[in-house]
Amino acid sequence: MNLWREFKLQRLLDRYVSPPLSRIFWKFQLAQDEFPGIIGLEVTSICNLKCPMCPRTFSPRKFGHMPLSMFQRLIDEIAEYDDRWMVEQVALNEYGEIFLHPNWFEMMEYTVEKIKKAQIRLDTNGTMMRAPVIDKLFQSRLPSLIISVDGVDEETYDLLRAGGKFHEVVENVKQFIERRRKEPDCGPTAYVQIIESDYTRRYLPQFKAFWEKQIKDAPRINLLVTPFHDFAGQITNRQFEKIHKPGLYINLPCYRLTYEVDIFSDGVTSVCCMDSERQIVIGNAKEQSIWEMWHGPELHRYRESMKSAEYAALSLCHTCPHSQKFLVNYGTKAGFNRVVSRLKQTGERYLRGRFFQ
Ligand code: SF4
Repeated sequence: MNLWREFKLQRLLDRYVSPPLSRIFWKFQLAQDEFPGIIGLEVTSICNLKCPMCPRTFSPRKFGHMPLSMFQRLIDEIAEYDDRWMVEQVALNEYGEIFLHPNWFEMMEYTVEKIKKAQIRLDTNGTMMRAPVIDKLFQSRLPSLIISVDGVDEETYDLLRAGGKFHEVVENVKQFIERRRKEPDCGPTAYVQIIESDYTRRYLPQFKAFWEKQIKDAPRINLLVTPFHDFAGQITNRQFEKIHKPGLYINLPCYRLTYEVDIFSDGVTSVCCMDSERQIVIGNAKEQSIWEMWHGPELHRYRESMKSAEYAALSLCHTCPHSQKFLVNYGTKAGFNRVVSRLKQTGERYLRGRFFQ
């Protein structure tokens, strides 16, 4: 555990007291950390699925692999700060399937060798986890692996993980479990994950019952239920979750702008993993170091915008549940508009109203 990070007041408030309180504290935070605590590296933006709950599916951007040399340079830089307990997590994924990168094993091993203190996170959709990949995972020192299996049969899986084959993914995970039984001390601790949403909630018991049976007596394999999020309002399909209730919301500063960077496969760097369309860009890792971008003018400008609630420069944050907190439901659109116009007259800059139908 990174004690320095744990005892940072804002993080303590966020985790154990109240996220809105921590965001008010953010406003008064004078100094940023020397280096980001969470770093996402998009090893690849290529994916073989078209999941309707992932913004990548609807993205017009050009997809590709991160070059190995750039990846190694970034890991070298992160390792310097990791050595000083300044990094909490290095995530080797953003919007792609890592096992499609021809150098994934080299990249993973390089990360494990250099990053000793921070948590290393790796997610997969499980479709490529056939025998050769499982062999490599069992040779590796990767600490943990999250495998997303969002379905209980062909029909539910096809809807959520379009392009994959349910029975193939289940077979891949079963092979991994079997291998774990034979080699309990090798390979990463695995988590079989489902995203909990309005759509999946009804079959969670079925999912749990099926996988609990499969992982029985297999050490270091767990089930993981992760709440759905709408990528700052970018996923609008109400089938998955009715996140926004009609009512009054308040925008409060989000800690990510002082804590996270996400480097996409082409080097474009944002401060938020939700930013699939790269709207909060702070530089390009092809030409700049992480430190340079972290202390650069773009990020400074975004932080100032958030501090003074000028969301025009941060449109993604305006609709994001991490910044936008539900206050009260005023029932009708007319009643809601009345309240909003009265609040606007007060000049309170932190209160923003939205009526979600
Ligand atoms: S998009 Fe959301 S999570 Fe990301 S920086 Fe903005 S408010 Fe925070």
